Amino acid sequence: MDAISSEFGSEDVRRAQLQSALSNITVTLIANSFIASSAALLIYDERGTSFIFVWLAGIFGLNAVRLAHGLRLLRADASHQDPEKALKSLTRLAFVAGLCWSPLPIAFLDSIDSRTAAYIVFIMAGITTGSIIQSLAYWRISVAFSSPILAATIAKLLLQQNTVDLVVATNMALLMAMLIRSAVISQQKFCVSHAATHQATELATSLRLAHAEVQEANETLKRLATTDPLTGLPNRSVFNQTLASLIHEQTPVSLALIDIDNFKTVNDTMGHAAGDEILCTLALFMMDKAGDDITPIRLGGDEFAVIASGSDSAARLMDYVLMLQQNMKDQSGGLHNVTLSVGLCPQDGKQRSASELFAATDRALYAAKSAGRDCIRSA
Ligand code: GH3
Ligand code: MG
Repeated sequence: MDAISSEFGSEDVRRAQLQSALSNITVTLIANSFIASSAALLIYDERGTSFIFVWLAGIFGLNAVRLAHGLRLLRADASHQDPEKALKSLTRLAFVAGLCWSPLPIAFLDSIDSRTAAYIVFIMAGITTGSIIQSLAYWRISVAFSSPILAATIAKLLLQQNTVDLVVATNMALLMAMLIRSAVISQQKFCVSHAATHQATELATSLRLAHAEVQEANETLKRLATTDPLTGLPNRSVFNQTLASLIHEQTPVSLALIDIDNFKTVNDTMGHAAGDEILCTLALFMMDKAGDDITPIRLGGDEFAVIASGSDSAARLMDYVLMLQQNMKDQSGGLHNVTLSVGLCPQDGKQRSASELFAATDRALYAAKSAGRDCIRSA
C-alpha cells in the first residue's frame, strides 16, 4: 500500500487523471449548454427579461472555449504534455465557468416560494452534482466549477432572511460539503486503483522476464551438463543415457570406441594446444559425417565413442570409422601422422547389457592397440 501511495503524485497517475477528465468533456459541455438553455427559457418565460440571453450567449461561448481547449489536450502528443499543467488549465477554466453560472442565482433567486427560485435551486444543485460525477478522477475541477455556483446560491438564499430559505441554504451547504468530500474520496480511489493496476502490470512484466531468464539458465545448465566443453560433442552422460535407452527399447545397436594413438607423444612434441586442435578436428569430422542413427561422443581424454542404431548399424559404423581414420591421416598432412585405434562391437543379434557391450568393445580396442595400433578390431 505504501508503494502504491508513493505513486499518487507520479506523472503516470496524473496522465491517467487527465485522460479521465478529458474522456467525456464533449458530453459534459453539451449537457451544460442544454441545462443553461432550459434555465434561460424558463426565466424568460417567467420574468420576460431578455437580458438572460446575453448570459446564455456567454455560457455558450465559454463552453466552446472549454471544448476547444479539451480537444486540443486530447489530440496533443502525451509524451510532450505536462499532465499537471493540463489539469490545472482545465481547473482554471472550470472555475471561470462556475463564475459565469453564479449570476443566475444572484439575479433571479428571490424567495424560494416562487416557481423560478425553486427551479433555479434545483438546477444549481443538479449541475454541481453532475460536475462531480463527470470528474471523479480529479476533484479540483468539479470543486472549482461548483464552489462559486453553490456559494452564490447559498448567499442569495441567506439574504432572503426567512426560515424556508434558511433551511434550503443549509441543505445546499450540506450538499456542497458532501460533494467536495465524495470528490476527494473518489479521486483517492481512482489513484489507488490506477497505481495498483500499474504496479500489477510492472510485476507481471518482471515475472515474465525472470521466467525467461530462468528458462535460459536451465537450458545453459542442461547444455553444459551434456556437452564436452572442448569439442562440443555430447559427453559421457549422453553416452550412458543413449546406450541404456536403445538397449531398453531393444533397438539393434553397434558400438565403437576410438582412441588416438600415441597422443601423449603428440602433446609432448607439438604442445598441448596442438593436441587440443587434433581433438577438435576429429570431433568436427565425427559431427560432420554423423547421421540420425549415429551418435558421436567424447568419453574423455583422447577416447571417443560412436553409437550406431538400426538394422544395418554394423556396416554403417564400419564405413564411418574407416572414413574417420582416413580423414585424420589426410588432415595431418605428413607433419605428424595421427592414427586411430578402434574397437568395434557390431550388432549380431545377441542380447547384451550396456556394460557388457561396453566391456566387449573396450576389449576389442585393447586388441587393436596390441595389434600395433592404427587398425580396427571387432569383438
Ligand atoms: P595410446 O596409443 O596407447 O593410446 O597412447 P596415448 O599416448 O594416446 O596414451 P593415452 O591414450 O592413455 O593418453 C591420453 C593422453 O591424452 C593423456 C593426456 O595427456 C592427453 N589428454 C587428455 N585430455 C586431453 C585434452 O583435453 N587435451 C590434450 N591436448 N591432451 C589431453
Ligand atoms: Mg591414446
